[in-house]
Amino acid sequence: MILDLESMLRCPECRASPIRFASPPVCGACGWSGRVSRDIPDFVDPSHLSRQHNEELAAQENAVEDYYENEQKVSCHWDRMSADELPPLLGYPAGPVLDLGCGTGSAGAAVRRTGAAVVGVDLTLACLEVARRRLDAVVRAEAAHLPFKDEAFDAVIARGALHHMADARSAMREIARVLRRGGRALLVDPREFPWLEPVKHAIRKDDSSFTEDHHAYTIAEYRALVEEHLAVDKVLTFHAFAIMIAVGLDLVPLPSWLPKRMIARGLYKLDRALDKTPVHKAGHLVAVCAHKN
Ligand SMILES: [Zn+2]
Repeated sequence: MILDLESMLRCPECRASPIRFASPPVCGACGWSGRVSRDIPDFVDPSHLSRQHNEELAAQENAVEDYYENEQKVSCHWDRMSADELPPLLGYPAGPVLDLGCGTGSAGAAVRRTGAAVVGVDLTLACLEVARRRLDAVVRAEAAHLPFKDEAFDAVIARGALHHMADARSAMREIARVLRRGGRALLVDPREFPWLEPVKHAIRKDDSSFTEDHHAYTIAEYRALVEEHLAVDKVLTFHAFAIMIAVGLDLVPLPSWLPKRMIARGLYKLDRALDKTPVHKAGHLVAVCAHKN
């Protein structure tokens, strides 16, 4: 599918279209002008970002090499493998599809492999630089101020994104706005386990990739967040135990010769098998499949 990104954009200031997708992007109506950062169209208003946000962004820059794209980490392979679960849950959209909080683009790439054009949005430039190679287009923008026209997308996916956000409710409002009527959304995030939260907190206490905004949702909270703007079709929990082992393995220095991809695949297959049993109820991830009426 050919993607005409320019025709999907609107001005974040006066909300008129069209945006001239020059370098930098400019509004033909009010004269608003964005930026181009590392060759990526940038719609972020720096005044919206707190000091804590900026610290998290700086940490995320390093996380690309240390974690997201580090093939020595079991979870790096896990993220890539598990992305193939997403297109069926999203109903194989024709596109275009928005991958919100795309990171390095593994979720969007899985959707793209099924034939849809995918636009990735994130705040972290280092992530977008990788995602650009996997997706049809990338844009730097804030989830609460998306620079797209109403109903520009056939589907929206946000994997592991909402739990990072200070204002997930505004992000959901924007997701619903840019989704066409009848279009589907898939939201996936880690869920809250009361016994696990203190452990996660202890592990991350010196890691500025995890600000105070970080929040694990209960299933009921997560459903309610989506239901404010979209009709919920189903709520799933999955990946019960093996994902914990995978994440745990990444915390200890493993010898480089250990086949991380193979370990990830074995653990992933275990969780997929458990997901077909009632054990899925103990799943570490919660997903909401929804549509716009
Ligand atoms: Zn304008």
